[in-house]
Amino acid sequence: ERVGFAFVGLGRLTLEELLPAFAECKTARPVALVSGSPEKAKVVAAQHGIKESSVYSYDDFDRIADNPEVQVVYVVLPNGLHRDFVIRAAKAGKHVMCEKPMANSSQEARDMIAACKQAGVRLMVAYRCQYEPYNREVIQRVRSGDMGAARIIEATNTQVMGPGDQWRFRKALAGGGALPDIGLYCLNTARAITGEEPVEVFARIFNPQADDRYREVEETIAFMLRFPSGTMANCSSSYGAHESKDLRVRLEKGRIDLENAFAYEGQQMRVAQRGGKAEVIDTVRMPQQNQFSLEIDHMAACVKENRVPRTPGEEGLQDHHLMRRSTGQPKPGRLSRLHR
Ligand code: NAD
Repeated sequence: ERVGFAFVGLGRLTLEELLPAFAECKTARPVALVSGSPEKAKVVAAQHGIKESSVYSYDDFDRIADNPEVQVVYVVLPNGLHRDFVIRAAKAGKHVMCEKPMANSSQEARDMIAACKQAGVRLMVAYRCQYEPYNREVIQRVRSGDMGAARIIEATNTQVMGPGDQWRFRKALAGGGALPDIGLYCLNTARAITGEEPVEVFARIFNPQADDRYREVEETIAFMLRFPSGTMANCSSSYGAHESKDLRVRLEKGRIDLENAFAYEGQQMRVAQRGGKAEVIDTVRMPQQNQFSLEIDHMAACVKENRVPRTPGEEGLQDHHLMRRSTGQPKPGRLSRLHR
């Protein structure tokens, strides 16, 4: 029997990536929808073989407690709404999956973890890159130690925002700008690669003065992490630069490049090492797999086998701590404006 998932929020991610990903899921199926738009939800339900009686509005969402087909509630709303819906799902007795960033603040993340603990349900934050095979291969190769110590990690996540991104510029709904939305992948991946927690974090923000979209949230951020073993991570993220989502690791005995590391697909991995006197560059090829299907199947397996997910609520909380620490102390000028 496949584990039944309910989706809260029928926006772009749910419609374009998550629901289609079930075609490649092995242990999960969509069984319920929660939407502010009953007409849209009806159409989507029909497309995915979901019963009309399993379509809920945000107001009557709590009735989901009475639907035994739903085992996991997957919250895919704007970030500022994650906390309340995760807590309501836990109170309904359902396991919870929550999109990244987990919340708008560390305090909200703590509330969510506490609610799930009290209800005795699992909580997973959807850090899809930690389920993507090439990212896992980078983590495994670095942690194996075969290439010596990792000295420098470079992670970049940039993209230009479009007209459908209005809530992402409102601090109350988004929590912040490029950092929590896409820079988060750089932060989370640097931690996953080293398996360590940074002892120092440092960030600088830039907002174009003439662009009204960046009155509440940051457009561009560069940040640096120093890990206890000595690895340094140089990360950058922007809503104002052409798409670039790359990861590089410089180790004592080689380097690993992962192009499109944080993209939905198109990862390209190269490993350069010394082979005798020559420099040998290997292209690493792995079977294409849908990372959304892999993360959904992971949550389904955790529910079936009563295991803690690889990316539990605590993982989201730790990233919120670090984002707060890196940008939290108001600095002169533009940075302080972000933290009124
Ligand atoms: P979206 O704008 O396409 O969809 C948001 C949905 O929430 C819409 O259906 C909208 O109607 C609904 N909604 C309910 N209340 C709302 C309100 N008060 N204001 C605005 N919308 C409201 O957004 P999205 O891109 O699908 O993002 C949803 C979540 O998924 C976010 O947390 C985002 O960070 C995350 N996300 C993750 C990835 C990933 O790769 N894992 C990619 C995109 C988005």
